[in-house]
Amino acid sequence: MLLNFPQVVPSDVCLACDGCCRFEHARSPWRPQIAREEQSFFVEKKGCMCPVNTADEDFPQPCYVSTKPWHAQVKCCYFQAKTHRCDIYNERPFDCQLYPFLLVKEGQQHKLGLHLSCPFVLEKRYQPSFEELIGRVKTYFQTKEMALFVQSNSQMFSAYEEHRPEIEVLDSI
Ligand code: SF4
Ligand code: SF4
Repeated sequence: MLLNFPQVVPSDVCLACDGCCRFEHARSPWRPQIAREEQSFFVEKKGCMCPVNTADEDFPQPCYVSTKPWHAQVKCCYFQAKTHRCDIYNERPFDCQLYPFLLVKEGQQHKLGLHLSCPFVLEKRYQPSFEELIGRVKTYFQTKEMALFVQSNSQMFSAYEEHRPEIEVLDSI
Protein backbone atom coordinates (compact mmCIF):
# COMPACT_ATOMS: atom_id res chain seq x y z
CA MET A 1 0.00 0.00 0.00
CA LEU A 2 1.44 3.37 -0.98
CA LEU A 3 -0.45 6.32 0.42
CA ASN A 4 -1.36 9.12 -1.92
CA PHE A 5 -0.56 12.48 -0.42
CA PRO A 6 -1.32 15.67 -2.38
CA GLN A 7 1.70 17.43 -3.96
CA VAL A 8 2.88 20.12 -1.52
CA VAL A 9 5.83 21.79 -3.26
CA PRO A 10 5.64 22.22 -7.05
CA SER A 11 8.04 19.88 -8.87
CA ASP A 12 9.84 22.68 -10.69
CA VAL A 13 10.71 24.30 -7.35
CA CYS A 14 12.19 21.06 -6.03
CA LEU A 15 14.10 20.33 -9.24
CA ALA A 16 15.94 23.64 -8.80
CA CYS A 17 16.71 23.06 -5.11
CA ASP A 18 19.36 20.93 -3.44
CA GLY A 19 17.61 20.61 -0.10
CA CYS A 20 16.25 17.06 -0.31
CA CYS A 21 17.45 13.54 -1.01
CA ARG A 22 21.05 14.34 0.06
CA PHE A 23 22.12 14.07 3.66
CA GLU A 24 25.12 14.96 5.81
CA HIS A 25 25.78 11.39 6.86
CA ALA A 26 24.35 7.88 6.66
CA ARG A 27 22.49 8.20 9.98
CA SER A 28 20.94 11.59 9.30
CA PRO A 29 17.50 12.05 10.91
CA TRP A 30 16.36 13.62 7.63
CA ARG A 31 16.53 10.35 5.71
CA PRO A 32 12.95 9.42 4.73
CA GLN A 33 11.41 6.47 6.47
CA ILE A 34 9.47 3.70 4.82
CA ALA A 35 6.13 3.07 6.51
CA ARG A 36 5.23 -0.43 7.58
CA GLU A 37 2.50 -0.61 4.92
CA GLU A 38 5.08 0.31 2.25
CA GLN A 39 7.84 -2.10 3.23
CA SER A 40 6.64 -5.15 1.30
CA PHE A 41 6.42 -3.03 -1.85
CA PHE A 42 10.04 -1.92 -1.43
CA VAL A 43 11.22 -5.42 -0.62
CA GLU A 44 9.50 -6.95 -3.66
CA LYS A 45 9.89 -4.23 -6.26
CA LYS A 46 12.89 -2.13 -5.40
CA GLY A 47 15.04 -3.63 -2.68
CA CYS A 48 16.69 -0.36 -1.67
CA MET A 49 15.94 0.08 1.98
CA CYS A 50 17.31 -0.77 5.39
CA PRO A 51 16.87 -4.33 6.68
CA VAL A 52 13.40 -4.65 8.19
CA ASN A 53 12.86 -5.94 11.67
CA THR A 54 9.26 -7.06 11.83
CA ALA A 55 9.82 -9.33 14.82
CA ASP A 56 8.66 -6.85 17.41
CA GLU A 57 5.17 -5.65 16.51
CA ASP A 58 4.83 -3.45 19.59
CA PHE A 59 8.10 -1.57 19.21
CA PRO A 60 8.84 -1.48 15.48
CA GLN A 61 12.21 -0.11 14.43
CA PRO A 62 12.39 2.80 12.00
CA CYS A 63 13.10 1.73 8.44
CA TYR A 64 14.86 4.26 6.22
CA VAL A 65 15.68 4.41 2.54
CA SER A 66 19.27 3.30 2.00
CA THR A 67 21.95 5.82 1.17
CA LYS A 68 25.09 5.78 -0.97
CA PRO A 69 28.24 7.85 -0.52
CA TRP A 70 28.07 11.05 -2.53
CA HIS A 71 30.95 13.56 -2.47
CA ALA A 72 31.47 14.36 1.25
CA GLN A 73 27.86 13.42 2.01
CA VAL A 74 25.43 10.61 1.21
CA LYS A 75 22.44 10.52 -1.12
CA CYS A 76 19.29 8.44 -1.24
CA CYS A 77 19.84 5.35 -3.37
CA TYR A 78 16.94 6.40 -5.61
CA PHE A 79 18.28 9.91 -6.25
CA GLN A 80 19.88 10.78 -9.59
CA ALA A 81 22.18 13.62 -8.61
CA LYS A 82 22.92 14.76 -12.18
CA THR A 83 19.27 15.38 -13.05
CA HIS A 84 17.93 15.99 -9.50
CA ARG A 85 15.32 13.30 -10.21
CA CYS A 86 13.95 10.51 -8.09
CA ASP A 87 13.97 7.09 -9.78
CA ILE A 88 10.70 6.17 -8.08
CA TYR A 89 9.01 9.57 -7.94
CA ASN A 90 5.47 8.30 -8.48
CA GLU A 91 6.02 5.55 -5.91
CA ARG A 92 8.22 7.40 -3.45
CA PRO A 93 7.65 6.77 0.25
CA PHE A 94 4.88 8.63 2.03
CA ASP A 95 7.54 10.37 4.16
CA CYS A 96 8.99 11.89 0.96
CA GLN A 97 5.54 12.93 -0.22
CA LEU A 98 4.79 14.56 3.14
CA TYR A 99 7.94 16.71 3.35
CA PRO A 100 8.27 19.67 4.22
CA PHE A 101 5.61 18.47 6.66
CA LEU A 102 7.06 16.17 9.29
CA LEU A 103 5.93 13.56 11.78
CA VAL A 104 7.15 14.89 15.13
CA LYS A 105 7.25 13.19 18.51
CA GLU A 106 6.70 15.43 21.52
CA GLY A 107 6.86 13.33 24.66
CA GLN A 108 4.29 10.61 24.00
CA GLN A 109 2.31 12.80 21.60
CA HIS A 110 2.22 12.58 17.81
CA LYS A 111 2.36 15.96 16.11
CA LEU A 112 2.39 17.38 12.63
CA GLY A 113 5.44 19.56 12.07
CA LEU A 114 6.73 21.85 9.34
CA HIS A 115 10.40 22.09 8.38
CA LEU A 116 11.14 25.80 8.25
CA SER A 117 14.45 25.24 6.43
CA CYS A 118 12.75 24.28 3.16
CA PRO A 119 13.16 27.31 0.84
CA PHE A 120 9.55 26.95 -0.35
CA VAL A 121 8.33 27.16 3.26
CA LEU A 122 10.64 30.11 3.97
CA GLU A 123 9.10 31.99 1.06
CA LYS A 124 5.45 31.01 1.46
CA ARG A 125 4.88 30.28 5.16
CA TYR A 126 2.85 33.38 6.00
CA GLN A 127 0.91 33.65 2.77
CA PRO A 128 -2.84 32.84 2.94
CA SER A 129 -2.37 30.04 0.39
CA PHE A 130 0.05 28.30 2.73
CA GLU A 131 -2.37 28.56 5.66
CA GLU A 132 -4.92 26.93 3.37
CA LEU A 133 -2.42 24.19 2.55
CA ILE A 134 -1.79 23.54 6.26
CA GLY A 135 -5.54 23.25 6.75
CA ARG A 136 -5.74 20.65 3.96
CA VAL A 137 -2.92 18.62 5.45
CA LYS A 138 -4.55 18.67 8.89
CA THR A 139 -7.83 17.51 7.34
CA TYR A 140 -5.97 14.74 5.49
CA PHE A 141 -4.71 13.38 8.81
CA GLN A 142 -8.22 13.38 10.28
CA THR A 143 -9.41 10.52 8.09
CA LYS A 144 -9.92 7.06 9.55
CA GLU A 145 -7.28 5.66 7.16
CA MET A 146 -4.67 8.11 8.46
CA ALA A 147 -5.63 7.49 12.08
CA LEU A 148 -4.84 3.81 11.46
CA PHE A 149 -1.64 4.72 9.65
CA VAL A 150 -0.45 6.87 12.58
CA GLN A 151 -1.37 4.09 15.01
CA SER A 152 0.68 1.48 13.14
CA ASN A 153 3.65 3.75 12.40
CA SER A 154 4.59 5.36 15.71
CA GLN A 155 8.24 4.60 14.83
CA MET A 156 8.03 7.24 12.09
CA PHE A 157 7.55 10.08 14.61
CA SER A 158 10.90 11.62 15.51
CA ALA A 159 11.96 14.05 18.26
CA TYR A 160 14.47 15.67 15.87
CA GLU A 161 16.30 16.85 19.01
CA GLU A 162 18.99 19.37 18.03
CA HIS A 163 17.02 20.29 14.90
CA ARG A 164 13.95 21.39 16.85
CA PRO A 165 14.53 25.15 16.24
CA GLU A 166 14.08 24.43 12.50
CA ILE A 167 10.65 22.89 13.09
CA GLU A 168 7.27 24.52 13.66
CA VAL A 169 4.95 22.17 15.50
CA LEU A 170 1.47 22.60 14.05
CA ASP A 171 -0.99 20.22 15.61
CA SER A 172 -1.57 16.88 17.28
CA ILE A 173 -2.41 14.06 14.92
S1 SF4 B 1 13.87 21.54 0.54
FE1 SF4 B 1 11.76 22.07 -0.11
S2 SF4 B 1 11.97 23.07 -2.12
FE2 SF4 B 1 13.92 22.01 -1.67
S3 SF4 B 1 13.72 20.00 -2.68
FE3 SF4 B 1 13.01 19.76 -0.55
S4 SF4 B 1 10.76 20.10 -0.58
FE4 SF4 B 1 11.63 20.87 -2.51
S1 SF4 C 1 12.88 8.16 -2.51
FE1 SF4 C 1 13.01 9.75 -4.05
S2 SF4 C 1 12.10 11.58 -3.13
FE2 SF4 C 1 12.56 10.15 -1.47
S3 SF4 C 1 14.61 10.74 -0.73
FE3 SF4 C 1 14.87 9.14 -2.28
S4 SF4 C 1 15.21 10.24 -4.20
FE4 SF4 C 1 14.32 11.68 -2.74
